[in-house]
Amino acid sequence: MDTLWAPWRMAYVGGEQHARDVSALVEVGAEADPDCFLCQAVYDANNDSRRHVLRRTELSISVLNKFPYNNGHLLVAPRRHCGRLDGMTEAEHVELVREIDRWVTVLEKTMNPQGFNIGLNLGHAAGAGLPGHLHWHIVPRWVGDVNFMTSIASAKVVPQSLDALWEILVAE
Ligand SMILES: [Zn+2]
Repeated sequence: MDTLWAPWRMAYVGGEQHARDVSALVEVGAEADPDCFLCQAVYDANNDSRRHVLRRTELSISVLNKFPYNNGHLLVAPRRHCGRLDGMTEAEHVELVREIDRWVTVLEKTMNPQGFNIGLNLGHAAGAGLPGHLHWHIVPRWVGDVNFMTSIASAKVVPQSLDALWEILVAE
């Protein structure tokens, strides 16, 4: 499925992702992966607007998905580079669920969605783009968001820019 009016998608399709990641390299801790965009975001605390980091807690980080399936598509992850559910601590599990809970409330207030898809892609075969660092997807849904464009043209419109969305959600 193609996405219309989405410059971030064009960068992805055009292979600029790698160049951008390299230029964004930061010093990370011993347990982190320097090539992991979530670890980079955790350690590069002075570039939250550029990296679209929404919120940091003691054990979690929340960011906008750069390649959204829908308007308001967020990722919630443990701060620690961890790719296995049984590798997470009890405290991390609890904090991640609470963060997801908080984001649902914020998204309901700011975007008025009618439902959510919330989930985890565990492993390459399940579609995880970054299998080494667990991250939960929160995708707001509206009745009709699978609209005529999807039906007839196999394309989807994501109307709001990531920068504009970041400003709204950070403020909330
Ligand atoms: Zn990582």
